[in-house]
Amino acid sequence: KNVGKISLEQIDSLSGKSFPLCMRQIHQSLRENHHLRHGGRMQYGLFLKGIGLSLEQALQFWRSEFIKGKVDADKFDKAYAYSIRHMFGKEGKRTDYTPYSCMKVILSNAPSQGDHHGCPFRHSDPELLKQKLQFYKVSPSGISQILELVKGMHYQLACQKYFELTHNLEDASFSLNHPNQYFIESQKVLGG
Ligand code: SF4
Repeated sequence: KNVGKISLEQIDSLSGKSFPLCMRQIHQSLRENHHLRHGGRMQYGLFLKGIGLSLEQALQFWRSEFIKGKVDADKFDKAYAYSIRHMFGKEGKRTDYTPYSCMKVILSNAPSQGDHHGCPFRHSDPELLKQKLQFYKVSPSGISQILELVKGMHYQLACQKYFELTHNLEDASFSLNHPNQYFIESQKVLGG
């Protein structure tokens, strides 16, 4: 229902304000490496579709980033465009894929070396997670609270704490179970 509401120019700023950490880190690595492996393309591509990117926008978004790297436009069209159309249900079995929930991200297809998908609260080494949170300007006391929740394997609560800290809220009035829900709640708070 939100299709077409997001412009491609908004994505960088939205990623800093309203994306959950999993999507923020995928976006950052895509911008840095001009490439993403399959797991990242699926997790992030479906999330972007969920926040309102149309198929045409998605093709433009991925193509313009990939051709800044090692992939030329011709190769992009041959090797990657299909999988993006597929995500939108325009190829293959024409399933209209839905964005992954937190449980799916946390429990399936754990990232390996060189991957950027997954849930950073679940899949990042705590020391690395700490560095990421510092980099994103989370306060030391906030970081301790998050790491405590991670230690207790409360990954979604850790993410919710990250939401509260980055939105200056005492108590987020929702129970997080989906990255796209995170985005919607953030936009509500920020009046976007
Ligand atoms: Fe993403 Fe969910 Fe993990 Fe948060 S808890 S980082 S939204 S997968």
